[in-house]
Order: sequence, then C-alpha cells, then structure tokens
Amino acid sequence: MKIVFLGTSAAVPTKERNTTSIYIVTTNGAYLFDAGEGLQKQLQIARLNPIKIKAVFISHMHFDHVLGLPGLLMTMALMNRKEPLTIVGTRKLFQFLKMLNEKFYMDLTFGVEFVEAHQGSVYENKEIKVVAFPTIHSTESYAYRIYEYKLKRKFYPEKALKLGIPRGPLWNKLQLGNSIILNGRKITPEMVSDPPPPPVSVSISGDTAYFDELIDFFKESDVLIYESTFSKELENKANEMLHSTSEQAALAALKSGVKLLVLYHFSERYKNTKLLEEEAKKIFPNTVAAKDFMCIKIEDNDISTIDNIEKCE
Ligand SMILES: [Zn+2]
Ligand SMILES: [Zn+2]
Repeated sequence: MKIVFLGTSAAVPTKERNTTSIYIVTTNGAYLFDAGEGLQKQLQIARLNPIKIKAVFISHMHFDHVLGLPGLLMTMALMNRKEPLTIVGTRKLFQFLKMLNEKFYMDLTFGVEFVEAHQGSVYENKEIKVVAFPTIHSTESYAYRIYEYKLKRKFYPEKALKLGIPRGPLWNKLQLGNSIILNGRKITPEMVSDPPPPPVSVSISGDTAYFDELIDFFKESDVLIYESTFSKELENKANEMLHSTSEQAALAALKSGVKLLVLYHFSERYKNTKLLEEEAKKIFPNTVAAKDFMCIKIEDNDISTIDNIEKCE
C-alpha cells in the first residue's frame, strides 16, 4: 500500500500546502480520502491518474475537504470514464452532488453509487474494506479506516514439489486459497501454504476533537493519520473549535497502539510544522508531520516515509 498526501493544510491553502486530500494506492486500485480545492492540480503534479480512483470518501461538508470533488468528477467524464464510482459521505454531500447535477450540465459518462456514511462498514470489494466512525466536529463528520487484504497465502514450494505439483498456474491457484485436483487427488491450500498475513490498515481521523471512543476505532492500525490543527499551546482553541492538537494526536497514537503517527491538517499559522512534530514526538516518538507530496509505503512489515512522490516507486 502507498499513501500520498495531496493536501495537508486546514481551512485555507498556503503556498506550500493544499487543503486536505489523501490518495491511497493498493495493489489493484486507488482510493481518495477527502477532496480539497485544487485537488486536480495536485494529482497532476504527483502524476496520479484520476481514472484509477475506485471510491471517494469524504469526511464532512467543510470547504477544505470537498471543493475539489466537482472538478474531479468532470475530468473523469472528459476522460470518458465508464467504470462506476462509489462516493461515501454524509447526506449533505449527497444533496450537494444532486444540486451540482441540476445546476450544471454534468453529463457524467459513468454511474455514481452514493453510500451514506454511517458507523460501520461503508465500502468493500475483494481487495479492501473501509469502515467509518463518527467524530466530534462542528458538522457531521467521519473518521475512516481502510484495510487492504493480503490475498496470497504464504506458499511453501518444497511442499508443493514433494506432492508432485508442477510449478506454474496450479501453484498460483493454491496460493490464492483454491483447492486443486491432481491425478484424481484433492490438494487443499492448507497442504502447501499458511493463511495470508493479516490485512494492512490505515486510519484517517478527518476533523475531530479528541475523545476516547475514537481510540478503539484506531486500535493497532499500521498507520494513523490524525489531524493536528493546533499546537498544544492552543489546546483551548482546539477544544472550542472541535479540532485537535499535536499532543492529542500523539495521545491517540499511543493509546491505540499504532505503528506510525502522521500529523496533517495544519492551521495556516504554522509555516513550519517542526514544533508540532516535536510536541507529538515527546509522547509518541514514531511521528512524522505530513507535507504535500510526501509518500508512505507499507510493504510486508516495513513502513517507510519518502519525502517526495517522485522517489516513491
Ligand atoms: Zn478541515
Ligand atoms: Zn471541518
């Protein structure tokens, strides 16, 4: 799995940061979490193809998370997209999309399946599952957690050879969990392989005040991407505006036992996010402050942070 940050600013874009958007690449597709204004330009700079996006998940109806969506839909239509697109979000998002369709000549070339966000599973295909959890914010808002299933079982070639199974497509079938018949004998995947490793999971907070129930939802994620609108000095302001501080983000990471914390959604007042990163690191050392076009790669048990998408192959 690869996570690309296309926007890491709260409320307004800055010279260095676009408003919120995260693009996640899996083995067979791509998924977009929030769609801040200016998203299309960011996709182009990052050389990411919008057609590959299978589903879009919008946390809530604040401008900095949703204004990039209309343009993206139109571009997909201009590219003659045929594959249906799933959009997950609140009822207000559905009304917004309906209004756009009525007021503009959208003429989409593909079907849109709208799923109203709710607590629990909101999207699932063979490869991934996404679950949602309501957060505490000034409008209905959701955190999302994406799981990417590992489809291939751990395969033991020596066991297969011992059973006389020739190298080739039969190995592949068994590795994907199917039984085969060889010379009238049934061979099950268990005879030559172990179950696939557990799914990789990434949690994204969206906008939220800090609260304990959210911790359970993030429990043991490989990566937690958590909003850090303010530094700890402005904790009162964060509580009042139903946002979080870098310290609260670190507390969420510590209590939920994640492997890596990524801070994002910074107030424009922080030209440099070093301070926020340092505050968080005092509580949860494995923390990094996101930058636009930063990329995180999760391979097997290895999580690496790469500063620039160009080096993230
Ligand atoms: Zn926001
Ligand atoms: Zn918001």
